[in-house]
Amino acid sequence: MKADLKGMDSHETEAWARGLGLEPYRARQLRQWLFKGLVSSFEEMTNLPKRLRADLTGKASLSVLEEVRVEVSRDGTRKYLFKIADGHLIESVLIAEGGHFTLCVSSQAGCAMDCRFCLTARQGLKRNLSASEIVDQVIQVRKAMDSPDRLTNIVFMGMGEPLANYEAVVKAIRNLISPEGMNFSHRKITLSTCGLVPGIKRLGKDVVVNLAVSLNAADDETRSFLMPVNKTYPLASLMAACRDFPLPNRRMITFEYVLAKDVNDSREDALRLAGLLSGIRAKVNLIPLNPHSATDMVPPSEDRVLGFQEILIKKNFTTIIRKSKGQDISAACGQLSGRYG
Ligand code: SAH
Repeated sequence: MKADLKGMDSHETEAWARGLGLEPYRARQLRQWLFKGLVSSFEEMTNLPKRLRADLTGKASLSVLEEVRVEVSRDGTRKYLFKIADGHLIESVLIAEGGHFTLCVSSQAGCAMDCRFCLTARQGLKRNLSASEIVDQVIQVRKAMDSPDRLTNIVFMGMGEPLANYEAVVKAIRNLISPEGMNFSHRKITLSTCGLVPGIKRLGKDVVVNLAVSLNAADDETRSFLMPVNKTYPLASLMAACRDFPLPNRRMITFEYVLAKDVNDSREDALRLAGLLSGIRAKVNLIPLNPHSATDMVPPSEDRVLGFQEILIKKNFTTIIRKSKGQDISAACGQLSGRYG
């Protein structure tokens, strides 16, 4: 088996290099080329001796994703379809926001959470992604960009439930954040979860990142109908974990709320949501439901969405309506299927 370098942290890379009789500075050079040089072959690592390059080629793998297709939306959003080693397909979405870019990465092929409004859920869980498969999404996309440095934000909001693939996700985050990794600011990395309470507790202890919680309803009955995970971790336990989540200075937890017509979009729902969030440093992202073939739910009218927002704003919550980007190429929230053709 070849060594999986993008999935290793600096200590593991050093240990591996030591096993080959290499000095620690070689491990640092390797990581530089992988995470900053964005190379796809050992041949490009020009400060390594030629013989070593050839030797490493047989011993370690570099890119673990195969780009299958890139689709470009009318609004500029780009959807990357990647094939992973055993043939499953995953997607990453690059979104332009003013002068910078956000990449929405997948953490699993498919998903086991079975949320009623989400298309990824319909395929079930294929498998967890490895840390290198997660980091490689960022590397491959950066490499394809004219100005790679303009990719500043990473959101774990693609396919899968990141906290159901905890170890690999945290490892990937560490390689994204570490200065001798990709050197992203931890302020610019957001993990979004459907509400796996034990994972939220662990995350708060292990790594500093932004937390987003897909809430989608403010009462247990509606939430359990939309998101089966709520039967295991009902709102009381979820909100307690959010209250305890350590937040650095002025940081807030983002609560995502997909608005579905006549399901969770009433005035009472908005007031209940404000009540549920009271006392939490929270901001709210409202996402009018993106329709797709596997749901009969539809988004509310624009007026109703604005009305819902207004109630939350009156209660002093920063509330934005997330504009759905990339709808024409099925790249919007809940529309990732990893289907080809
Ligand atoms: N599993 C994680 C990461 C996926 S994020 C999580 O649940 O947070 C995907 C986001 O898209 C979630 O906030 C989810 O609520 C939202 N979403 C899913 N299906 C959607 C749809 N059809 N329309 C709009 N948003 C949707």
